[in-house]
Amino acid sequence: MTHEEREKTAAVCETCGAICVAWILSDESVVPVSTTVKCECDETVLRVFEGTETLANEE
Ligand SMILES: [Zn+2]
Repeated sequence: MTHEEREKTAAVCETCGAICVAWILSDESVVPVSTTVKCECDETVLRVFEGTETLANEE
């Protein structure tokens, strides 16, 4: 009864800043839950968005 271990999390695209819901897979890769990510980057680079973390795009 072992299912693949994955954890649902929020992730942010490091390129465009789009936030989406993603899975953290057992190999620590981060993949979007659905294809409805508001990200049009050629290569989406998702970074796990920690709940206590705030977007720091202001410089
Ligand atoms: Zn993006």
